[in-house]
Formats: sequence, C-alpha cells, structure tokens
Amino acid sequence: MALANAAPESRPAGMIEILLVEDNLADVRLAQEALKEIRAPHRLTVARDGVVAEELLSETRPGAAFSRPDLILLDLNLPRKDGRELLEKIKADPRLRRIPVIIMTTSCAQEDVVAAYDLNANAFVRKPMGVDSFVELIRAIDAFWLRSAVLPPPE
Ligand SMILES: [Mg+2]
Repeated sequence: MALANAAPESRPAGMIEILLVEDNLADVRLAQEALKEIRAPHRLTVARDGVVAEELLSETRPGAAFSRPDLILLDLNLPRKDGRELLEKIKADPRLRRIPVIIMTTSCAQEDVVAAYDLNANAFVRKPMGVDSFVELIRAIDAFWLRSAVLPPPE
C-alpha cells in the first residue's frame, strides 16, 4: 500500500530542524541517539545554555546558517538563562511564538508544570531515564508534533 508510506502533509518538507536546549551532556547524547534510532530526517542543533539558545533564535532568518526550528525541546534548569525565561521570550516573539516548545525536564513539580503552561509551553514531559524510554518519548513527539499535528506557517 503506497499510501501508507506517503509522508503526511503535516510533516515539514525536507529536513526537520530541531533545537535542543539542554545543559546535561548525557541527556544530549540520549536525545541524539533516540533521534538516530527513529530515523526521522532531522537536523539537531544543541544549545547548552539559555543565552546561546536565545542568540541562535535571534539569528533565524532566511539564508542564515541556523534555520528556524520546527520544534524546540527545552530543559527548564539551564545555566545563564533558565528555560522559563527563554520560554517567555520565545512566546513573546511574533517570529518564534508558533514554534511548538516542549518542556523536557527532570522536575515534575506542579509549580513548574503550571508555570510552563502559563508561559504557553505546548507540552510538558518528564525527561526519561535511559535510552529505551528516551527513544519511546522521541518517537511519540515525532508522531504527534511532526506527523499528526498540523502546524501554522511561520509568521
Ligand atoms: Mg538542566
């Protein structure tokens, strides 16, 4: 059945740009491994702190070396500028606010969950431990955010 293999329209054309904002190197490696495992055509850019992420995002424009991400995976606890502050900036920026931002953190404190949704996070997930559960989460994120959800065009 050829149709079953056709790429759904909701998937961004070509390479999927993912920005991972994560200071923990072990978690960066898990994410890289998980993305490789699910074989989604992607380009992963990693920012190890909130300031670097903000600089990268401020440079997104046509022709720039770093393209506007299709998805942002954002840790909350980060050096220099934390994930809450970065989330607030992203969601206040008309050029960036439509990008799905998934908070991925070890904290599941209710106040963090509430604060993240109040700042318009698109989803909040607990950072998995170990490669198998990381792969399952990345697979679920890909299936929903990049294959099922119809996303608005960039502003
Ligand atoms: Mg962290």
